[in-house]
Amino acid sequence: MVQLAKNRIMKNEAGPPLQGSALLQGIVICGKCGSRMRTQYQRQGEKKVQYYCCHQEAQEFGGNTCQNIHGVAVDHALSEIIIDKLTPTAILKAIDVQRELEHREASSDNYYAMRVESARYKAELARKRFTKVDPDNRLVAFELERLWNQSLEELASAEDEHRRCLLSKERAITKDDTESLLALPEDVKALWDSEDISIDDRKRIARCIIKNVTLLKKDGKINIGVCFKAGSSEELVVDNPLRPYERHVLPESTLDIIRNEAIHHNADKIVRILNGLGLKTATGLEFTDRIVQKTMRSHGIPTCEKWLKQQGYITLPDKAKLLDIPWQKLYQNVISGVYDGKYDRAGEKGKFMFL
Ligand SMILES: [Zn+2]
Repeated sequence: MVQLAKNRIMKNEAGPPLQGSALLQGIVICGKCGSRMRTQYQRQGEKKVQYYCCHQEAQEFGGNTCQNIHGVAVDHALSEIIIDKLTPTAILKAIDVQRELEHREASSDNYYAMRVESARYKAELARKRFTKVDPDNRLVAFELERLWNQSLEELASAEDEHRRCLLSKERAITKDDTESLLALPEDVKALWDSEDISIDDRKRIARCIIKNVTLLKKDGKINIGVCFKAGSSEELVVDNPLRPYERHVLPESTLDIIRNEAIHHNADKIVRILNGLGLKTATGLEFTDRIVQKTMRSHGIPTCEKWLKQQGYITLPDKAKLLDIPWQKLYQNVISGVYDGKYDRAGEKGKFMFL
């Protein structure tokens, strides 16, 4: 039975590419900005851990990443819901919704198809009239040609509307979905937990019943909003698991070094200093740019640029504006040593900052 169910599920090939272990790939919406969240994987020791990430704003406007949400707790909570929902009653309800939807779609289809038919008939009539007209009677020929063109435009717009109607149809549960659901064995929980079912099959089952999932990280918790294809919705809250660098705390002496060096150096230089001193991360690894940047963020240590700003320094374009000279001129003056005002650099190769 399990194998049969699996074969039936495997038939449903529709959907986004299936790679990686994130259960909700392709159906997660960011609760902060409404964008679609992407799936990313991070290697943590031997394991690859899934994250749901929203980079929309960062990509479009160059801002910060909107949300990065640990996927393990979310997927676990959703698995419980899916198992819970896949009862025979719920499956029958889903099928009912599908039938109702098919019925509604059929009637709207008919309406637009009839409009196309009628426009096509009128266009054909106009064409015949035009071809029969005496070419010497120019005034009539001109008018009939105008009417023929008009009827062709009307036909094109009716066809457009029909096409739009077909495209806009939001298929709640497809036929393949219902077939897959009906093929599931009585004991869904056993199937779900067994090794007989691959992660791709789990994803297919999830997409059979879930329309989308909205995630919002707030106060150390993850708020999950589940919207089911059958029309209902559900909300739940799970704990946001700590990331490895949050779980392991660096000794205060190492943090002090980072604090001091961050005033003058960027992360790459701090990495060289820490590794040069033979210091290790909280999990015993060598420091990397990423680890240093994350440590700084989580401990509220400002970058050198931020630190200089806190001391009243301003950027090169702002200073040029203040001096009422082109920024290129100010840059030249600094490079050639002519500039005699106080300035500093945010890191060795970083931005020039001016007091
Ligand atoms: Zn977002």
